[in-house]
Amino acid sequence: MQIQSLSSCVPCRRPAAPAQSSTEVDCNWSVDAPPDFRSLGEKARDYAVDKTKDLALAVAVTCVNPTTIVQNTVSLLISLGSTGERRTGEYGFALYENSRGVARWIGKSFLQDTTAFTPGCLGFASRKLSQRVMDHENQHALQSLVTGPLYYPGLVFETVRAGLKCGFNSDCIHAISVFELDAERAEKVGLHFPFSG
Ligand SMILES: [Zn+2]
Repeated sequence: MQIQSLSSCVPCRRPAAPAQSSTEVDCNWSVDAPPDFRSLGEKARDYAVDKTKDLALAVAVTCVNPTTIVQNTVSLLISLGSTGERRTGEYGFALYENSRGVARWIGKSFLQDTTAFTPGCLGFASRKLSQRVMDHENQHALQSLVTGPLYYPGLVFETVRAGLKCGFNSDCIHAISVFELDAERAEKVGLHFPFSG
């Protein structure tokens, strides 16, 4: 239930602004990531580099706000079991596109095949994201940074509130949850101090 509540994003639920290119499609987990032709050695080296960056990021963000240690640890653990193409965001955020491993399993098993989710300072997406959706996920990371220990309880509360009102589906959650409304605002006006609009 808690993991389900982290279903922060299903941007493909509605008619969306055009993706920036044909490769930047926002939907969905059910489509496999493209084949990976790197050698085993290259994969191992890239994995080590990416996870070192993730660890440094999680430590840095946790130093900025020590109360984010739970969600940053969760993000890091998911990352350790996952691979993908690491993309750097802003204000202490990075996201894996074309995720494989644990991140993909979580998305398919618990998040209704959602496009992407951001449990803390790291995000995970099934595909390459448009800049618009990247900003959406980045805004969730900012929410995590600002709300600290209230991030997960807040997501759960807002998901339950929406569910009781109109159903546990992405349309309803995005229409009601203050976390999603704030992230959707980032799609239009860019990153901003969370809940300031
Ligand atoms: Zn979202």
